[in-house]
Amino acid sequence: MRTQRQVVDYSLRKRAALRDLLAARVARYDVCDASPYLKNAARFHGEPTEERCPICRSENLVHVHYIYGDELKQSAGQARTRAELSVLAMTLREFQVFVVEVCPGCDWNHLVEQYLLGRDGLAGGVDDGSEQEAVSGSSAPAGSAPRRRREAQR
Ligand SMILES: [Zn+2]
Repeated sequence: MRTQRQVVDYSLRKRAALRDLLAARVARYDVCDASPYLKNAARFHGEPTEERCPICRSENLVHVHYIYGDELKQSAGQARTRAELSVLAMTLREFQVFVVEVCPGCDWNHLVEQYLLGRDGLAGGVDDGSEQEAVSGSSAPAGSAPRRRREAQR
């Protein structure tokens, strides 16, 4: 997506989780614990991928995009399709997207990446990156996402 910026890739963390599972340091039910909310979001707003589930290898993973940001008001913490994200990215100045992969078969789930979208990413378009670095410290840590999601559901 054109306004995508400040991408944080969680594939290393995912690989570590899979390694722990293979080494039996964590139990399968500890990582295959998708909540009913997440499974519903995957069913209704998820984007199918071509990637096989690394755990059960019988289903393809689904990506769920959760959105956060002050401009979203009551929509913050909800899941959106990629098409809806494109529209929001042209409407709002800035919002955060968290991408979670979910297996509909065994309930494996893991954070894939997070990034910012919104019209602010169109401004200038110059590749100096200095301003980006100055604001990167203000993005929410991934760990706060589930808490904020619960708050949004009240
Ligand atoms: Zn699976």
